[in-house]
Amino acid sequence: MTGRDVTIELPWYETRILNCTFCGKMIAGHYWHDDSYPTDKFCEPPCADVKRRLARSPRPKSAPRRAKRG
Ligand SMILES: [Zn+2]
Repeated sequence: MTGRDVTIELPWYETRILNCTFCGKMIAGHYWHDDSYPTDKFCEPPCADVKRRLARSPRPKSAPRRAKRG
């Protein structure tokens, strides 16, 4: 994975709460910026990995072909 850990520096009056764009977990202090998903903020690098894996194989498994006999 490529990316970087980004420290969130918010002004004291900014009370917005960040959530992981993938799993929705609250992000406090810092988030993972993944190069593959520049617009997303991940709570931790594994979250980006899971998203990457899902994107690579949208279908969990290919449906078995129906064997036609007789
Ligand atoms: Zn997450």
